[in-house]
Amino acid sequence: MNKQNEVDISIIIPIYNEAANISSTLDEIIEVMEPLGRPYEIIAVDDGSKDNTFEILKGYHEKKPQVQVIRLTRNFGQHPALYAGFNYSKGKIVVTIDADGQNPPQEIPNLIKVLEEGNYDFVQGWRQHRQDSFYRKFFSNIVNWILTKITHVQLMDIGCGMACFSQNAVKKLLQATHHARYIPSEIAWMGLKVSSYPIIQRGRKKGKSRYRIWSLFWVNFDIIVSISTLPVE
Ligand code: UDP
Ligand code: MG
Repeated sequence: MNKQNEVDISIIIPIYNEAANISSTLDEIIEVMEPLGRPYEIIAVDDGSKDNTFEILKGYHEKKPQVQVIRLTRNFGQHPALYAGFNYSKGKIVVTIDADGQNPPQEIPNLIKVLEEGNYDFVQGWRQHRQDSFYRKFFSNIVNWILTKITHVQLMDIGCGMACFSQNAVKKLLQATHHARYIPSEIAWMGLKVSSYPIIQRGRKKGKSRYRIWSLFWVNFDIIVSISTLPVE
């Protein structure tokens, strides 16, 4: 049997300096995935961590081979790390989830159900009760608003790292000649069938957000100018 058909669900985790969080996040994901009875793989992408994230992942893989580890040569950023995971994914459905514990793994089956029943190509989490700082929520609201105006696609929370993709959506993302800095805006631009699904957002287990205010500003600026079809003059 072709190995391609053996994996039903791929879970991709972008990871940067999450030594304090990654084991418990993996434990929680496995606890949710096992009872589903669907063949799955977890692709842990170490995005050039400087702490001992990689050593922890290696040890985890030895105990649980369904956890595959990719190590990037340097820190590329959350979205390039996701692309690296997409490249290796074999599942008919691909789920992305953050490493820091903010996205509850218990929502994975719900996102999959919405994707399958609604025949969507992309279902993204819509964070409820966010415990992030004021400026994070402020940027999110502005970018969501502008993106909706530009693309006429209603995604409620494009900054949410938890999402579910059809194999078709992943294939199309990988086929694009450029790599989008922000995946949800690329999906919206492609005209795929998308939806948002409310999820409870928890606090970070340990440590601080890996994004600083200026990197957030540039990421958000990039999203808007790269997706806009409005004339520049
Ligand atoms: N991340 C990454 N590379 C980076 C920054 C972040 O892979 O350069 C990962 C990080 O480890 C986490 C996810 O992307 O799994 C979201 O990052 P974070 O929790 O810091 O962002 P926030 O929750 O503040 O949006
Ligand atoms: Mg986080």
